[in-house]
Amino acid sequence: MTFRARHLLGIEPLHPTEITELLDTADRYAELNRQGRAPRDVLAGLTQINMFFENSTRTQASFEIAGKRLGADVMNMAMQASSVKKGETLIDTALTLNAMRPDLLVVRHPNSGAVDLLAQKVNCAVLNAGDGRHEHPTQALLDGLTIRRAKGRLHRLSIAICGDIAHSRVARSNIMLLGKMENRIRLIAPPTLMPSGVAEFGVELFDDMEEGLRDVDVVMMLRLQKERMDGGFIPSEREYFHRYGLDAAKLSHARPAAIVMHPGPMNRGVEIDGTIADDINRSVIQEQVEMGVAVRMAAMDLLARNARMGRDETGVMA
Ligand code: ASP
Repeated sequence: MTFRARHLLGIEPLHPTEITELLDTADRYAELNRQGRAPRDVLAGLTQINMFFENSTRTQASFEIAGKRLGADVMNMAMQASSVKKGETLIDTALTLNAMRPDLLVVRHPNSGAVDLLAQKVNCAVLNAGDGRHEHPTQALLDGLTIRRAKGRLHRLSIAICGDIAHSRVARSNIMLLGKMENRIRLIAPPTLMPSGVAEFGVELFDDMEEGLRDVDVVMMLRLQKERMDGGFIPSEREYFHRYGLDAAKLSHARPAAIVMHPGPMNRGVEIDGTIADDINRSVIQEQVEMGVAVRMAAMDLLARNARMGRDETGVMA
């Protein structure tokens, strides 16, 4: 086993061989899921707590299903973002939960870095389910697996990530993962939504969809994250769709076999035309959701194994 980490906090610290191990394990789970043969004993006797300080539909459901499929006892804490203050309150919450001795803690938080902070205070494995604009590692892994299955490889592909890059942890984690796997990454965004300094990651930058999408193998669209904007980023949603929304005309510049992705939730008619999103010949959006469960099963399985190894050697968790 090469993935020896105690937590899954981001893609940044992972080595390509660790990414491959996570994806290979997830691929096996994807097949077992399709056959209805997921092994219930993998996480049996373990307690998984999901703490979502920010709204989520698919990620929370996906982690819950993944844990249950592998036999964990799963608990969802109802965390209202409005009732949670930063700093000490978060740490207090972590310490309280830690005292209940969970094995896996799945955390989403609106502040970048909050999940790393929490991980330093607890004894169990922590999985980052999205922290602010920072990272969303399981999303990038499920995207990587979806691409690998659709294209037969996850290297030397030309991949466009389009839209609200500035506010997107999905973009950040994907830039890292796809870069580590040696793909050619193009970022397409209006200048107001392109983060400064991003060129350092070895990506090509475009502010025009037609140019940016030319001959790409993968088109990854991003949601316009209105909740993270404090005004003035786009002229209007109509204008945004006109220039950056993915429709048939813009997609025609990509390779004929190019796949279309979106992490969800989608703003139809804003960043993507509904007919493209639903076109089963181009869109792999539902496959992304399916791979999400498999990737989360793999991540929790490997982290639980690492925790067991830590305990075996020292009697306490490493
Ligand atoms: N669901 C993804 C996230 O939590 C993408 C999005 O919200 O637009 O980051």
